[in-house]
Amino acid sequence: MRPVNPYLDGDLMALAEQARRFAIARVAPGFQERDRTRVLDRTLMAEMGAMGFIAPELPEAFGGLGMGSLAAGVIHEEIARADLSMSYVNLLASLNGQILARHGEPKLVGPWLRRLTQGEALIALALTEPRGGSDAANLRLRIERDGGDYVLNGEKTSISAADQADAAVVFGRTGSVESGARGVTALFVPLDLPGVTRSRFDCHGQRAIGRGSLFFENVRAPLSHRLGEENKGFVQVMQGFDFSRALIGLQALGVARVALEETWAHVAERQAFGRPLSAFQGVSHPLADLDTQVEAARLLCLQTLWLRDRGAPHSAEAAMCKWWAPKLAYDVVHQCLPMFGHGGYDRGPMEQRLRDVLGFEIGDGTAQIMKTIIARARVGREAVPA
Ligand SMILES: Cc1cc2nc3c(=O)[nH]c(=O)nc-3n(C[C@H](O)[C@H](O)[C@H](O)COP(=O)(O)OP(=O)(O)OC[C@H]3O[C@@H](n4cnc5c(N)ncnc54)[C@H](O)[C@@H]3O)c2cc1C
Repeated sequence: MRPVNPYLDGDLMALAEQARRFAIARVAPGFQERDRTRVLDRTLMAEMGAMGFIAPELPEAFGGLGMGSLAAGVIHEEIARADLSMSYVNLLASLNGQILARHGEPKLVGPWLRRLTQGEALIALALTEPRGGSDAANLRLRIERDGGDYVLNGEKTSISAADQADAAVVFGRTGSVESGARGVTALFVPLDLPGVTRSRFDCHGQRAIGRGSLFFENVRAPLSHRLGEENKGFVQVMQGFDFSRALIGLQALGVARVALEETWAHVAERQAFGRPLSAFQGVSHPLADLDTQVEAARLLCLQTLWLRDRGAPHSAEAAMCKWWAPKLAYDVVHQCLPMFGHGGYDRGPMEQRLRDVLGFEIGDGTAQIMKTIIARARVGREAVPA
């Protein structure tokens, strides 16, 4: 029985249960195989879409279920328990879905959103450039107007699903370099346009979704592909990251929770010196310690989504979720793995989880950047300039 908490009512608990059953039956069996093949399962994506598990928070007109952010949260958590890489389908859809729904031209984005929620399209988010990701407003990819088109030239790097995505939300510079965040525009770019090429990295973890570079050479996208206003892409569109940061927290904690559950079961059963391993405080107390922190971090993530659903400010809370949960999840899996002795070190679910969660200590912004966001929320930008 899962513990009741104030954020999840009966409907959300039932949705979580449905997602868990699906994840156990359909997602978990291919967890290690997808790590080897490095290919997302499109059939599984479509099944997730058919179940209503992809971006359920989007309005029904866009193929969503018109549910709240917490619905997205519990689904992310359950799919990530089975395979963190596969839950990127949910994450990219929720992050990009709200950006497109809020800032895109309905005639353009409507059909894409319906494909997205049905699991028939994968959309990447392309912000990071080779010269740096933390200083995210300092972009160089050029976006220039030419008649009825924008023309893109430049490179995006470390982009999740770069070589598997069908389209990308691309941030680039329309203003001068000196204009900083105020000269950035966001565009929706189908990745089959002439002039787009891609590469794939050999990642430590999250290998089924993978990362890579996107190269744009005189790529033309109609003006109608702009998301938000020109030069305001950074300020308007980046607000979506508060949502993804809380979701990432729940993904990472989903992995932590399943690792803890398996480890508790193992140490209660495995014997050494005539007792179960759990009889030794050196075994059970570190697990109890981390279990406590996971419970607390999970409540913080749920609260952040709850605040979002009420239209309340939640940037600081989202940044807390984003730095704390992936670090905690890594510590949890790191603690759990040796509890299985030599077996934990074999290629298997535990070592894959360790590799997978580590990616979220970097992707979507590092802990240092998140702590700067929290500090700015507390004492203001002038007191925390960089
Ligand atoms: C698994 C994964 C998935 C990713 N997915 C995507 C994606 O889909 N789309 C996308 O656009 N990007 C993605 N990224 C890129 C990611 O967002 C960047 O790697 C990240 O923002 C850091 O940028 P960087 O790698 O250029 O490091 P840098 O910016 O060079 O930073 C290097 C180190 O310096 C520290 N640092 C930098 N500035 C400061 C400061 N002011 N104070 C203190 N410390 C500082 C950083 O915290 C970091 O530890 C992904 C990365 C990973 C690992």
